Amino acid sequence: MTRARTLPIRLAPHSGEALDSWWEAVAHRLGASTGDVLKSIGLLPRGASRPADSGILGRLVTLLDTDQAATLAWSAGVTEAEAHAMTLARYDRRVHVVDPQRRRVAARHVWGRARGSRYCPACLTENGGRWLLRWRLGWSFVCLDHQLLLVDACPRCSRIPRHFQATTRHPLAPGRCHSPSEKDSPPTRCGQPFEDVPALTLAVQGPVIAAQKLIEEAISRGRADFGVYQDHPQPSLALFGDLRALACILLRRVPERLAGFVPPEILALHQQPVPKKRRSFDPVEETRPGRLAPQRAATAALAASATLHILEQGDAHQAGAALRHLIRDADGSIPLKVGLRWAHTSPVFDAVHLATLAPHLSHSDQLRYRTADRLPRRPGSSAAPPDHSAGPRDPDAALASMVRPAEPFERCSVAHHPPGPVVLPPAHWRRERGLHHSDLAPSIPGRRQARPTHGAPAHEAGALQGHQRRPVRAGGLPRPRGITDRLRPPPRDRLP
Ligand SMILES: [Zn+2]
Ligand SMILES: [Zn+2]
Repeated sequence: MTRARTLPIRLAPHSGEALDSWWEAVAHRLGASTGDVLKSIGLLPRGASRPADSGILGRLVTLLDTDQAATLAWSAGVTEAEAHAMTLARYDRRVHVVDPQRRRVAARHVWGRARGSRYCPACLTENGGRWLLRWRLGWSFVCLDHQLLLVDACPRCSRIPRHFQATTRHPLAPGRCHSPSEKDSPPTRCGQPFEDVPALTLAVQGPVIAAQKLIEEAISRGRADFGVYQDHPQPSLALFGDLRALACILLRRVPERLAGFVPPEILALHQQPVPKKRRSFDPVEETRPGRLAPQRAATAALAASATLHILEQGDAHQAGAALRHLIRDADGSIPLKVGLRWAHTSPVFDAVHLATLAPHLSHSDQLRYRTADRLPRRPGSSAAPPDHSAGPRDPDAALASMVRPAEPFERCSVAHHPPGPVVLPPAHWRRERGLHHSDLAPSIPGRRQARPTHGAPAHEAGALQGHQRRPVRAGGLPRPRGITDRLRPPPRDRLP
């Protein structure tokens, strides 16, 4: 980094402003180019050539290191905290993941957007052309201050603003499109004034604004505890993993059934084909809807409204019923499989997935995946780390809680008798009592006992952590008589 000097004027950043918007505003106030300002405040080397092409500006907007923030604070009069808050690192692990080595938002992780910004024309008009950082998030699609759907692109040149960094060699007019014109030679700026761009006004009480409010609340609190999450709060990043997984299911399987979740105007914008001119600029094509952050705010609004309709249900079973209702085929089948796994999702999403499939699972799989529990789950998984605060448990007391009360298996109903935590006791405890694990496993006439299964599917084998924790198959309920008799200590008068 180069030597910095203090700027002759101080310009405070707007609340929530992005770093490049701020340095452009400083440059405009000084009547200088952004390149001169960036070199003065030490963010660019003096001899840097064509920094806009090198990607360094995008990296600065994503993440500042400690030295850069300190230099910026010294030369421009902002605090180091303010400097960091103007970068996308502000949302790291809350909304997206920043790769600290590449200084880039991971685009394949929960709708991370590495480049480009949506915008609210009304905000740009009011604040003199200052760009907010949150417009760059994949999950931002509405301005809650103006109830406007954010605009995706410049209506004149069709380019996504800030997808490519603007020139650092010429002064830039705030509030105007800085993308290069296509046919002008020598290259000039597009210059479209953004305050004139029409934006769709949304109903204050409508589902799209409600969805954006819920998302912004989860971002600011860093966690989700509404609807299906109320018993098992999850980090906000996991919420966005769940939203993305549901968006993938809905946008790929049943896009035509989502019309009722948004106003018709948003649906029309979502269904509009991307202009050919814009497609040529965008390196990312949406070949698999929902996997990456949608190019259009309308698509993000549709996906968020529909998926939050599911996740706002009272529990995983209601959410599963809502999802089942949406995706069920005409013949009643569900286009999901129990073995499907999504990246970056929470245990609550797994529960919703299993609850969606529950009526279509065999009885043994219903027990295996605990579909009658409030939070269905795969063997060996849980929604929260186990609580060890009470210290080691007495093995006999533990067993009493693990073995189900005596009740004939034939009378058990999945719906009314959740299987409970059937876990075999530790090996040393069984050895002391001369018990083999098969003594404790369920005994069902005509079926073999569960044995170590070396050829088990990877997703099942990965969940097992030892012989004693092998999940009970085929019903899962131990035969009540005989087992508890053998486990119970002999009467005192028979002790030697
Ligand atoms: Zn606005
Ligand atoms: Zn333009």
